Amino acid sequence: VKPVLKLHNTLGRKIQEFKPLKKNSVSLYTCGPTVYNYAHIGNLRTYIFEDILERVLMRNGYRVDRVMNITDVGHLTGDTDAGEDKVEKEARSENRSVKEITEFYTEKFLEDLRELNVKIPRSLPKATSFIEEQIELVEELMKKGYAYETAEAVYFDVKKFKSYGKLSGQKLEEKTVAARAEVVADKEKRSPADFALWFKTVGRFKDHIQRWPSPWGEGFPGWHLECSAIARALLGQPLDIHTGGVDHIGTHHENEIAQSEAAYKLPLANYWLHGEFLLIDAAKMAKSEKNFITLADLKARGYAPLSFRYLVLNSHYRSKLNFSWEALSAAEHGLYKIEEAYFALGRGPIKLKGPLSRGAEIEEIAFTKAINEDLNTPKALAVLHKVLRAPKIPAMEKRALIEKMNQILQIIGDEPPGPSSIPRRVQELAAQRLRLRNNKQFKQADVLRDEIDGLGYTIIDEEGGYRLVPKRK
Ligand SMILES: [Zn+2]
Repeated sequence: VKPVLKLHNTLGRKIQEFKPLKKNSVSLYTCGPTVYNYAHIGNLRTYIFEDILERVLMRNGYRVDRVMNITDVGHLTGDTDAGEDKVEKEARSENRSVKEITEFYTEKFLEDLRELNVKIPRSLPKATSFIEEQIELVEELMKKGYAYETAEAVYFDVKKFKSYGKLSGQKLEEKTVAARAEVVADKEKRSPADFALWFKTVGRFKDHIQRWPSPWGEGFPGWHLECSAIARALLGQPLDIHTGGVDHIGTHHENEIAQSEAAYKLPLANYWLHGEFLLIDAAKMAKSEKNFITLADLKARGYAPLSFRYLVLNSHYRSKLNFSWEALSAAEHGLYKIEEAYFALGRGPIKLKGPLSRGAEIEEIAFTKAINEDLNTPKALAVLHKVLRAPKIPAMEKRALIEKMNQILQIIGDEPPGPSSIPRRVQELAAQRLRLRNNKQFKQADVLRDEIDGLGYTIIDEEGGYRLVPKRK
């Protein structure tokens, strides 16, 4: 019997058996990046969680139709309608065109995903390619009385949408009070909790670079609009699963639901999944904060991107993950140990002579159970460790099992961990030390050995060379 797939649905806050609309395929919408800067590792954690979700759905026999939008249009600072356009601000400060900025950061984003073994979604629609659909959605909301126009913008009237707040559980009164504290630029706005569907290029936005004609005059869409319009256009409504980070729940996803459901009288999505925050010193990482770490920062310190992936998978996606350099080092070391043990089982093609032995079969089921239990990757990794150590499972079966687990986990590379997984600084010191030893300058060589030791590696001298081994933490 195959373990059933269970997922935690934010809508209703419970774990449910997953039942797609169609028998063999799943429509999956994942909110994508705003491309005015590099992704930080907190964002990347969410994309790794979504990658696991996609691979687990595939393992359960579904074809996954996945869409991830690329926000390449006016996105105002914060969730509110106040503030400035981040994309245009970045373009101005870098003295480049908006298109140059968004294309550059889109490419950097995709590079990050590739390095983290995250499957690139087949469909990566740009918000600017779906302006017409967004305008149609606003027209539909106007027609049905859910939206109103002011001199500056078109707003969604949240009081008209009775189930507003159903995803977050936040009451409209609370939201209104919270929103009141923010700067409200438009005096004609009926309630502070109303959100913009369309901004006109007048007043504070008169110099806005990106603009399109619309029934309400030239302007640009509010940022919640694109996901509703793109999801419907490319996947239909309702769709099976909609995902994002937990920071999307209260406003962005609530607003997406309001727009889509008010306009078309159908649910936007049946399942809502959200990835928790990555914290640094217990603080949330955000583009606006100083604690902004990118994948490039990790690489500059000599860490392999997959060490970060492994670190992420050691926590369940619905738990907060406290990032520290020590934790990353420990993860890198842990992954090194896994790879070392895996490649020690043998190389070359994996060929099984018959069905799996009973012991191996039990572990295979345990793994499937773990990933099908709301994507429990820490549990799945525990099974992987168990298989590596199991005394009774033959090596070839271990390789077959781990290879199959790795199709989902994607942490083990094609090659055994070589010098490339060791920080460059350590490699340089080791090479220097060998030269010193060859010159019989043993005292100086020992100083370097201590320095390498301080960086977390033990150097073992071998015939004509050396081996670097990460120290056990
Ligand atoms: Zn979205």
